[in-house]
Amino acid sequence: MQLVVHYHEIALKGKNRDMFVKRLIANLRKTFRDWGKIAVRSLFGRITFRVDCEDLAELQRRMSGVFGVANYSVVREVEQDFEAIAQAAWCCCKEAQARTFVVRCSRPDKAFPMRSVEVEREVGAYVLKCAETENYPLRVKLKGADTTVRIEIVNRMALVSGAQYPGPGGLPVGTGGRLVGMLSSGFDSPVACWNMMKRGADVVLCHFHSFPFTNRASLDNCIKIAEIITRYQYRSRLYLVGFAPVQEELLSLTPADMRMILYRRSMVRIAEKIAKREWAEALVTGESLGQVASQTLTNLAVIDEACHLPMLRPLIGADKEEIMTKARQIGTYDTSSLPYEDCCSLMLSQHPVTHAALEDVQRIEKALNLDELEERVIGEAEIIQLKWKGSEGVERKTLQEPQYGEADNYANLSGASCCLL
Ligand code: ATP
Ligand code: MG
Repeated sequence: MQLVVHYHEIALKGKNRDMFVKRLIANLRKTFRDWGKIAVRSLFGRITFRVDCEDLAELQRRMSGVFGVANYSVVREVEQDFEAIAQAAWCCCKEAQARTFVVRCSRPDKAFPMRSVEVEREVGAYVLKCAETENYPLRVKLKGADTTVRIEIVNRMALVSGAQYPGPGGLPVGTGGRLVGMLSSGFDSPVACWNMMKRGADVVLCHFHSFPFTNRASLDNCIKIAEIITRYQYRSRLYLVGFAPVQEELLSLTPADMRMILYRRSMVRIAEKIAKREWAEALVTGESLGQVASQTLTNLAVIDEACHLPMLRPLIGADKEEIMTKARQIGTYDTSSLPYEDCCSLMLSQHPVTHAALEDVQRIEKALNLDELEERVIGEAEIIQLKWKGSEGVERKTLQEPQYGEADNYANLSGASCCLL
């Protein structure tokens, strides 16, 4: 199958355009790597490539995850010869079972002797004649035709197509810098990470859990979610951070209603340390204004104060319904619906503060030994490398084995973990 890919936003990138196009080509190669080597060319603001597969539905599924693609078509590549172009246009109409059609031409290669409007008119007339000869009911409709035949005259060849499919838009993954995504097993954070991938960012994933004080569900769900979203960035590093040692320390001095905010600040500091190790420049979370107590403007500001990096919150103005719809589209909805015990609900008050005072929070933190512990939990975290391999699924490789504390060593947590969930 021969395809042509168009991009919109990249086309506006001026001097950096080459870098964006190169990355898009590399990502297309990764998307189809299990279909053998693909021949790719960049031609006058579009990319053409050939894949060894005739499964259009699978092709569409894969293209829906290639950020930077505005739209694409299956094309016939023919010589720059009027007869060959017009014949290809007629075949496109028949293939699409068109009843009405219109021809649109673009001619970046000005060496071709006919102007675009002439091509449109002449090819239209040729197609009508062919239809008449074969007794095929077909007419021209300039507005609202059921089939638009597109002719692109580029680089000593012509590309002719009958159907154009929308791509996901955005920018190619790998052009937008690196982030650390705070990934829970809920609905929001996978969508937030996906949003940033769509803007070209490469997201290192980081999940906090309280295993063995909670069951493995949040860990296992999170690994599944990470595998699903890895499809969009081809390769992910996932940190699974055992948060229990920090929670144990926090429990010793903190009132229950302040713990949520203290947990969050500690998570953010740990994520920032991971960002330093991974050369990431910002954090991303799935927070949405007012969704829960930790997401009031006051509390968000208190959380922000714990971190020196920008905190990106792409869902801040989104409703839960919108987020769930997106989760369905990107494929994380079902896994995010699975039950799990959240580490944040461990030893938490039913009524967390909605307007935490920064001075109180800082005073509590000063009395604790958090920095060392936060460093330690990264050293004990499990680190997994995920690689998307098309129809072969996702390859998983452990880069660092986890070290879990013994339940006996955490008197505060082990005593009360179950009843407070
Ligand atoms: P989600 O927001 O992913 O649906 P949630 O609603 O249970 O999960 P919130 O309590 O709303 O989580 O947390 C707000 C944000 O904090 C999450 O979107 C996520 O970015 C981050 N976060 C919460 N819990 C965790 C966790 N266990 N590990 C990593 N990040 C977390
Ligand atoms: Mg949430």
